[in-house]
Amino acid sequence: MKNFIGLIDTMYEIPLLVPSLKGNELKYVEECINDEWVSTAGSYVRKFEEKISDYTQSKYAVACTNGTSALHISLKLAGVVSEDEVIVPTLTFIAPINAVMYCSAIPIFMDADKFHNIDIEKTIDFITTETFFRSGYTYNKKTKKRVSAIIPVHVWGNASYLDELIRICEERNIVVIEDASESLGTTYTQGNFANKHTGTIGRLGCLSFNGNKIITCGGGGIILTSDEEHAERAVYYTTQAKDDPVRYIHNNVGYNYRLTNIQAALGVAQLESLPSYLNKKKIINDYYRSAINDLEHFSFLESPDYSDNNLWLNILEISDDCRLNVDSLINIFEKNKIQTRPVWTLNHMQKPFKDFQNHRIENAYKIVEKSLCMPSSVNLKTSHIDKIVSVLSE
Ligand SMILES: *Cc1c(COP(=O)(O)O)cnc(C)c1O
Repeated sequence: MKNFIGLIDTMYEIPLLVPSLKGNELKYVEECINDEWVSTAGSYVRKFEEKISDYTQSKYAVACTNGTSALHISLKLAGVVSEDEVIVPTLTFIAPINAVMYCSAIPIFMDADKFHNIDIEKTIDFITTETFFRSGYTYNKKTKKRVSAIIPVHVWGNASYLDELIRICEERNIVVIEDASESLGTTYTQGNFANKHTGTIGRLGCLSFNGNKIITCGGGGIILTSDEEHAERAVYYTTQAKDDPVRYIHNNVGYNYRLTNIQAALGVAQLESLPSYLNKKKIINDYYRSAINDLEHFSFLESPDYSDNNLWLNILEISDDCRLNVDSLINIFEKNKIQTRPVWTLNHMQKPFKDFQNHRIENAYKIVEKSLCMPSSVNLKTSHIDKIVSVLSE
Protein backbone atom coordinates (compact mmCIF):
# COMPACT_ATOMS: atom_id res chain seq x y z
CA MET A 1 0.00 0.00 0.00
CA LYS A 2 1.22 3.49 -0.81
CA ASN A 3 0.34 6.82 0.72
CA PHE A 4 1.16 10.20 -0.81
CA ILE A 5 4.72 10.26 0.48
CA GLY A 6 5.68 6.78 -0.58
CA LEU A 7 5.66 3.47 1.19
CA ILE A 8 4.03 3.51 4.61
CA ASP A 9 6.51 3.45 7.48
CA THR A 10 5.37 0.08 8.82
CA MET A 11 6.62 -1.59 5.64
CA TYR A 12 10.16 -0.70 6.58
CA GLU A 13 12.25 -2.82 8.85
CA ILE A 14 14.34 0.31 9.46
CA PRO A 15 12.23 3.50 9.23
CA LEU A 16 13.78 6.95 8.79
CA LEU A 17 12.68 8.58 12.04
CA VAL A 18 10.14 7.23 14.50
CA PRO A 19 9.52 8.33 18.08
CA SER A 20 10.19 6.31 21.21
CA LEU A 21 7.37 6.54 23.77
CA LYS A 22 8.59 4.26 26.54
CA GLY A 23 8.80 6.69 29.46
CA ASN A 24 5.94 8.38 31.32
CA GLU A 25 3.97 9.18 28.15
CA LEU A 26 1.09 6.81 28.79
CA LYS A 27 0.94 7.66 32.50
CA TYR A 28 0.65 11.43 31.91
CA VAL A 29 -1.83 11.09 29.04
CA GLU A 30 -3.92 8.70 31.13
CA GLU A 31 -3.95 11.33 33.87
CA CYS A 32 -5.43 13.87 31.43
CA ILE A 33 -8.12 11.40 30.45
CA ASN A 34 -8.92 10.39 34.03
CA ASP A 35 -9.11 14.06 35.08
CA GLU A 36 -11.05 14.91 31.90
CA TRP A 37 -8.68 17.81 31.18
CA VAL A 38 -7.99 17.04 27.54
CA SER A 39 -8.26 20.40 25.79
CA THR A 40 -6.22 23.63 25.81
CA ALA A 41 -6.89 24.44 29.47
CA GLY A 42 -5.13 22.07 31.84
CA SER A 43 -1.99 21.94 33.91
CA TYR A 44 0.27 20.12 31.43
CA VAL A 45 0.29 23.00 28.97
CA ARG A 46 1.73 25.38 31.61
CA LYS A 47 4.04 22.63 32.87
CA PHE A 48 5.38 21.94 29.38
CA GLU A 49 6.00 25.64 28.76
CA GLU A 50 7.82 25.98 32.09
CA LYS A 51 9.95 22.91 31.49
CA ILE A 52 10.92 23.99 27.98
CA SER A 53 11.74 27.47 29.26
CA ASP A 54 13.89 25.96 32.07
CA TYR A 55 15.66 23.59 29.71
CA THR A 56 16.43 26.14 26.98
CA GLN A 57 17.00 28.99 29.45
CA SER A 58 14.51 31.05 27.45
CA LYS A 59 12.71 33.60 29.62
CA TYR A 60 9.35 32.75 28.04
CA ALA A 61 7.96 29.78 26.13
CA VAL A 62 4.48 29.81 24.58
CA ALA A 63 3.00 26.53 23.35
CA CYS A 64 1.30 26.30 19.92
CA THR A 65 -0.40 23.64 17.83
CA ASN A 66 2.77 23.04 15.77
CA GLY A 67 6.05 24.54 14.62
CA THR A 68 4.43 26.14 11.58
CA SER A 69 1.91 28.08 13.70
CA ALA A 70 4.78 29.09 16.04
CA LEU A 71 6.57 30.54 12.99
CA HIS A 72 3.41 32.27 11.74
CA ILE A 73 2.75 33.99 15.08
CA SER A 74 6.45 34.87 15.47
CA LEU A 75 6.42 36.64 12.11
CA LYS A 76 3.32 38.56 13.19
CA LEU A 77 4.98 39.55 16.49
CA ALA A 78 8.08 40.63 14.57
CA GLY A 79 5.86 43.12 12.76
CA VAL A 80 5.97 41.41 9.36
CA VAL A 81 3.03 42.74 7.35
CA SER A 82 1.64 42.34 3.86
CA GLU A 83 4.22 43.12 1.09
CA ASP A 84 7.19 43.00 3.50
CA GLU A 85 10.09 40.78 2.49
CA VAL A 86 11.60 38.06 4.68
CA ILE A 87 15.00 36.44 4.09
CA VAL A 88 14.87 32.62 4.20
CA PRO A 89 17.10 29.69 3.21
CA THR A 90 16.21 27.81 0.03
CA LEU A 91 17.29 24.51 1.63
CA THR A 92 14.80 23.85 4.42
CA PHE A 93 11.46 22.23 5.13
CA ILE A 94 8.67 24.30 3.57
CA ALA A 95 7.11 25.40 6.90
CA PRO A 96 9.00 28.71 7.39
CA ILE A 97 8.33 29.70 3.76
CA ASN A 98 4.62 28.93 4.13
CA ALA A 99 4.52 30.95 7.35
CA VAL A 100 5.92 33.96 5.45
CA MET A 101 3.16 33.51 2.86
CA TYR A 102 0.46 33.35 5.60
CA CYS A 103 1.51 36.94 6.45
CA SER A 104 1.11 37.93 2.76
CA ALA A 105 4.83 38.68 2.87
CA ILE A 106 7.45 37.72 0.27
CA PRO A 107 10.36 35.31 0.76
CA ILE A 108 13.87 36.08 -0.55
CA PHE A 109 15.91 32.89 -0.90
CA MET A 110 19.53 32.36 0.18
CA ASP A 111 22.09 29.63 -0.50
CA ALA A 112 23.18 26.87 1.91
CA ASP A 113 26.59 26.55 3.59
CA LYS A 114 28.67 23.38 4.13
CA PHE A 115 26.55 22.40 7.14
CA HIS A 116 23.36 22.88 5.04
CA ASN A 117 22.41 26.03 6.98
CA ILE A 118 21.68 29.44 5.45
CA ASP A 119 24.95 30.82 4.01
CA ILE A 120 25.72 33.67 6.42
CA GLU A 121 28.43 35.24 4.25
CA LYS A 122 26.14 35.45 1.20
CA THR A 123 23.23 36.64 3.34
CA ILE A 124 25.34 39.47 4.74
CA ASP A 125 26.51 40.19 1.19
CA PHE A 126 22.85 40.47 0.15
CA ILE A 127 22.02 42.83 3.00
CA THR A 128 25.05 45.07 2.41
CA THR A 129 24.93 45.20 -1.41
CA GLU A 130 21.26 44.69 -2.32
CA THR A 131 19.46 46.71 0.36
CA PHE A 132 19.55 50.26 1.80
CA PHE A 133 18.69 51.64 5.23
CA ARG A 134 16.32 54.59 5.54
CA SER A 135 14.28 56.04 8.43
CA GLY A 136 14.95 53.05 10.65
CA TYR A 137 14.15 50.30 8.15
CA THR A 138 15.92 48.19 5.54
CA TYR A 139 14.61 48.20 1.96
CA ASN A 140 15.36 45.99 -1.02
CA LYS A 141 17.04 48.10 -3.77
CA LYS A 142 15.37 46.06 -6.51
CA THR A 143 11.79 45.93 -5.24
CA LYS A 144 11.79 48.95 -2.86
CA LYS A 145 9.95 46.73 -0.36
CA ARG A 146 10.82 46.63 3.33
CA VAL A 147 12.97 43.69 4.47
CA SER A 148 11.58 43.22 7.97
CA ALA A 149 12.77 39.78 9.14
CA ILE A 150 15.05 36.81 8.53
CA ILE A 151 14.50 33.15 9.45
CA PRO A 152 17.75 31.20 9.88
CA VAL A 153 16.96 27.48 10.24
CA HIS A 154 19.24 25.17 12.27
CA VAL A 155 19.08 22.38 9.70
CA TRP A 156 19.34 18.74 10.90
CA GLY A 157 20.19 20.10 14.38
CA ASN A 158 23.37 21.84 13.18
CA ALA A 159 23.66 25.27 14.78
CA SER A 160 23.77 28.17 12.36
CA TYR A 161 26.61 30.56 13.41
CA LEU A 162 24.77 33.77 14.17
CA ASP A 163 27.32 36.22 15.66
CA GLU A 164 27.84 38.39 12.56
CA LEU A 165 24.29 38.03 11.29
CA ILE A 166 22.79 39.20 14.60
CA ARG A 167 25.09 42.23 14.58
CA ILE A 168 24.13 43.40 11.09
CA CYS A 169 20.44 42.63 11.62
CA GLU A 170 20.43 44.75 14.77
CA GLU A 171 22.05 47.63 12.85
CA ARG A 172 19.50 47.23 10.04
CA ASN A 173 16.41 46.57 12.17
CA ILE A 174 15.79 43.17 10.61
CA VAL A 175 14.16 40.88 13.18
CA VAL A 176 15.84 37.49 13.56
CA ILE A 177 13.42 34.58 14.05
CA GLU A 178 15.26 31.29 14.54
CA ASP A 179 13.65 28.13 13.26
CA ALA A 180 15.02 25.68 15.83
CA SER A 181 12.42 23.02 14.96
CA GLU A 182 15.13 20.44 14.35
CA SER A 183 17.69 21.61 16.90
CA LEU A 184 16.26 21.27 20.42
CA GLY A 185 19.26 20.42 22.63
CA THR A 186 21.82 22.13 20.39
CA THR A 187 23.95 24.72 22.21
CA TYR A 188 26.81 27.01 21.17
CA THR A 189 30.26 26.30 22.56
CA GLN A 190 32.05 29.31 21.02
CA GLY A 191 31.44 32.94 20.14
CA ASN A 192 29.12 35.58 21.59
CA PHE A 193 26.44 33.00 22.29
CA ALA A 194 28.52 30.30 23.98
CA ASN A 195 26.40 28.09 26.29
CA LYS A 196 23.15 29.36 24.79
CA HIS A 197 20.55 27.13 23.16
CA THR A 198 19.58 27.52 19.53
CA GLY A 199 16.23 29.29 19.44
CA THR A 200 17.20 31.75 22.20
CA ILE A 201 19.53 34.00 20.18
CA GLY A 202 17.15 35.86 17.87
CA ARG A 203 14.28 38.01 19.10
CA LEU A 204 12.04 34.94 18.65
CA GLY A 205 12.75 31.23 18.27
CA CYS A 206 10.46 28.39 17.21
CA LEU A 207 10.48 24.71 18.15
CA SER A 208 8.48 21.82 16.67
CA PHE A 209 7.28 18.66 18.38
CA ASN A 210 6.08 16.84 15.27
CA GLY A 211 6.40 13.04 15.32
CA ASN A 212 9.79 13.02 13.58
CA LYS A 213 11.52 15.62 15.80
CA ILE A 214 13.91 14.81 18.67
CA ILE A 215 10.98 14.92 21.10
CA THR A 216 7.31 14.83 20.11
CA CYS A 217 3.86 15.87 21.36
CA GLY A 218 2.27 14.05 18.42
CA GLY A 219 2.03 17.57 17.05
CA GLY A 220 3.11 20.75 18.77
CA GLY A 221 5.31 23.80 18.73
CA ILE A 222 6.68 26.51 20.99
CA ILE A 223 7.63 30.17 20.64
CA LEU A 224 10.73 31.17 22.64
CA THR A 225 11.40 34.80 23.51
CA SER A 226 12.94 36.94 26.23
CA ASP A 227 10.48 39.76 25.49
CA GLU A 228 7.54 39.85 27.91
CA GLU A 229 5.27 41.73 25.55
CA HIS A 230 5.95 39.22 22.75
CA ALA A 231 5.14 36.37 25.14
CA GLU A 232 1.84 37.98 26.16
CA ARG A 233 0.89 38.72 22.56
CA ALA A 234 1.81 35.16 21.57
CA VAL A 235 -0.72 33.80 24.07
CA TYR A 236 -3.27 36.38 22.89
CA TYR A 237 -2.92 35.56 19.18
CA THR A 238 -2.83 31.79 19.66
CA THR A 239 -6.11 31.89 21.64
CA GLN A 240 -8.38 33.82 19.22
CA ALA A 241 -7.29 37.34 20.35
CA LYS A 242 -9.65 37.61 23.30
CA ASP A 243 -9.63 41.18 24.63
CA ASP A 244 -12.51 40.36 26.94
CA PRO A 245 -12.91 36.62 27.28
CA VAL A 246 -16.26 36.91 29.10
CA ARG A 247 -18.01 39.20 26.66
CA TYR A 248 -16.13 37.82 23.62
CA ILE A 249 -14.53 41.09 22.59
CA HIS A 250 -11.88 40.63 19.84
CA ASN A 251 -10.01 43.73 18.71
CA ASN A 252 -7.78 41.73 16.37
CA VAL A 253 -8.00 38.67 14.17
CA GLY A 254 -6.74 35.75 16.27
CA TYR A 255 -5.95 32.10 15.69
CA ASN A 256 -6.89 28.82 17.31
CA TYR A 257 -3.27 27.75 17.74
CA ARG A 258 -3.10 26.62 21.39
CA LEU A 259 -1.59 23.23 22.26
CA THR A 260 -3.92 20.74 24.01
CA ASN A 261 -3.30 19.24 27.45
CA ILE A 262 -2.97 15.70 26.01
CA GLN A 263 -0.26 16.84 23.59
CA ALA A 264 1.52 18.76 26.36
CA ALA A 265 1.38 15.70 28.65
CA LEU A 266 3.16 13.71 25.94
CA GLY A 267 5.68 16.53 25.61
CA VAL A 268 6.44 16.65 29.35
CA ALA A 269 7.16 12.91 29.35
CA GLN A 270 9.29 13.19 26.21
CA LEU A 271 11.31 16.05 27.65
CA GLU A 272 12.26 13.81 30.60
CA SER A 273 13.89 11.47 28.07
CA LEU A 274 15.66 14.20 26.08
CA PRO A 275 19.07 13.81 27.82
CA SER A 276 19.08 10.09 27.04
CA TYR A 277 17.93 10.76 23.44
CA LEU A 278 20.78 13.24 22.94
CA ASN A 279 23.17 10.63 24.21
CA LYS A 280 21.73 8.00 21.85
CA LYS A 281 21.99 10.37 18.89
CA LYS A 282 25.71 10.80 19.63
CA ILE A 283 26.20 7.04 19.81
CA ILE A 284 24.32 6.53 16.51
CA ASN A 285 26.34 9.24 14.76
CA ASP A 286 29.66 7.85 16.05
CA TYR A 287 28.69 4.33 15.02
CA TYR A 288 27.64 5.40 11.52
CA ARG A 289 30.93 7.26 11.04
CA SER A 290 33.15 4.41 12.14
CA ALA A 291 31.10 1.76 10.27
CA ILE A 292 31.44 3.66 7.01
CA ASN A 293 35.09 4.54 7.39
CA ASP A 294 36.34 1.98 4.85
CA LEU A 295 33.78 2.76 2.15
CA GLU A 296 35.25 4.71 -0.70
CA HIS A 297 32.39 6.83 -2.03
CA PHE A 298 30.51 7.73 1.11
CA SER A 299 30.89 9.96 4.14
CA PHE A 300 28.62 11.61 6.69
CA LEU A 301 27.91 15.32 6.84
CA GLU A 302 30.15 17.03 9.38
CA SER A 303 28.64 19.05 12.21
CA PRO A 304 30.04 22.46 13.16
CA ASP A 305 32.63 22.55 15.95
CA TYR A 306 31.43 25.90 17.34
CA SER A 307 28.42 24.10 18.82
CA ASP A 308 27.33 20.95 20.58
CA ASN A 309 24.80 19.66 18.04
CA ASN A 310 21.84 17.39 18.78
CA LEU A 311 22.68 15.14 15.77
CA TRP A 312 18.96 14.75 15.07
CA LEU A 313 19.38 13.37 11.55
CA ASN A 314 22.37 11.73 9.85
CA ILE A 315 23.10 12.82 6.28
CA LEU A 316 25.01 10.55 3.93
CA GLU A 317 27.18 12.34 1.37
CA ILE A 318 27.85 10.67 -1.97
CA SER A 319 31.16 11.45 -3.65
CA ASP A 320 31.24 13.06 -7.12
CA ASP A 321 32.82 9.99 -8.74
CA CYS A 322 30.28 7.52 -7.34
CA ARG A 323 28.27 5.79 -10.09
CA LEU A 324 25.14 5.69 -7.89
CA ASN A 325 22.94 8.74 -7.47
CA VAL A 326 20.45 9.63 -4.72
CA ASP A 327 17.48 7.99 -6.47
CA SER A 328 19.24 4.71 -7.20
CA LEU A 329 20.46 4.53 -3.59
CA ILE A 330 16.95 5.14 -2.24
CA ASN A 331 15.68 2.27 -4.43
CA ILE A 332 18.40 -0.08 -3.26
CA PHE A 333 17.65 0.74 0.38
CA GLU A 334 13.92 0.40 -0.21
CA LYS A 335 14.41 -3.13 -1.60
CA ASN A 336 16.15 -3.91 1.70
CA LYS A 337 13.24 -2.43 3.71
CA ILE A 338 15.36 0.53 4.78
CA GLN A 339 13.75 3.95 4.55
CA THR A 340 15.92 6.81 3.29
CA ARG A 341 14.91 10.16 1.79
CA PRO A 342 16.41 12.81 -0.42
CA VAL A 343 16.89 16.23 1.20
CA TRP A 344 14.26 18.88 0.38
CA THR A 345 13.60 20.14 -3.12
CA LEU A 346 14.95 23.70 -3.11
CA ASN A 347 12.22 26.13 -2.16
CA HIS A 348 13.14 28.84 -4.67
CA MET A 349 12.30 26.31 -7.41
CA GLN A 350 8.90 25.26 -6.03
CA LYS A 351 5.86 26.32 -8.03
CA PRO A 352 4.40 28.93 -5.62
CA PHE A 353 7.79 30.58 -5.00
CA LYS A 354 9.74 30.31 -8.26
CA ASP A 355 9.20 33.95 -9.26
CA PHE A 356 10.55 35.40 -6.01
CA GLN A 357 14.06 36.77 -5.65
CA ASN A 358 17.04 34.60 -4.79
CA HIS A 359 20.66 35.50 -4.21
CA ARG A 360 23.76 33.65 -5.46
CA ILE A 361 22.39 30.13 -4.95
CA GLU A 362 25.07 27.58 -5.92
CA ASN A 363 26.01 25.14 -3.19
CA ALA A 364 22.40 24.14 -2.40
CA TYR A 365 22.05 22.48 -5.84
CA LYS A 366 24.99 20.22 -5.16
CA ILE A 367 23.75 19.36 -1.68
CA VAL A 368 20.42 18.16 -3.11
CA GLU A 369 22.22 15.99 -5.66
CA LYS A 370 24.70 14.43 -3.25
CA SER A 371 22.90 14.00 0.09
CA LEU A 372 20.66 11.34 1.55
CA CYS A 373 18.73 11.35 4.86
CA MET A 374 19.55 8.15 6.76
CA PRO A 375 17.59 6.28 9.46
CA SER A 376 18.21 8.11 12.75
CA SER A 377 15.54 7.08 15.29
CA VAL A 378 16.69 6.98 18.91
CA ASN A 379 15.78 3.28 19.06
CA LEU A 380 18.01 2.44 16.06
CA LYS A 381 20.24 -0.51 16.94
CA THR A 382 23.88 -1.01 15.98
CA SER A 383 22.74 -4.15 14.11
CA HIS A 384 20.49 -1.90 11.99
CA ILE A 385 23.45 0.32 11.16
CA ASP A 386 25.51 -2.77 10.31
CA LYS A 387 22.78 -3.81 7.86
CA ILE A 388 22.60 -0.32 6.31
CA VAL A 389 26.37 -0.23 5.86
CA SER A 390 26.49 -3.74 4.40
CA VAL A 391 23.87 -2.70 1.80
CA LEU A 392 26.06 0.32 0.98
CA SER A 393 29.26 -1.69 0.66
CA GLU A 394 27.59 -4.08 -1.82
C1 LIG B 1 9.38 20.24 11.40
C2 LIG B 1 9.80 21.57 10.97
C3 LIG B 1 8.99 22.71 11.14
C4 LIG B 1 7.65 22.73 11.79
O1 LIG B 1 6.86 21.67 11.50
P1 LIG B 1 5.47 21.33 12.20
O2 LIG B 1 5.14 20.03 11.58
O3 LIG B 1 4.53 22.42 11.82
O4 LIG B 1 5.64 21.24 13.68
C5 LIG B 1 9.51 23.92 10.74
N1 LIG B 1 10.72 24.03 10.21
C6 LIG B 1 11.53 22.97 10.05
C7 LIG B 1 12.89 23.18 9.50
C8 LIG B 1 11.09 21.70 10.40
O5 LIG B 1 11.90 20.64 10.21
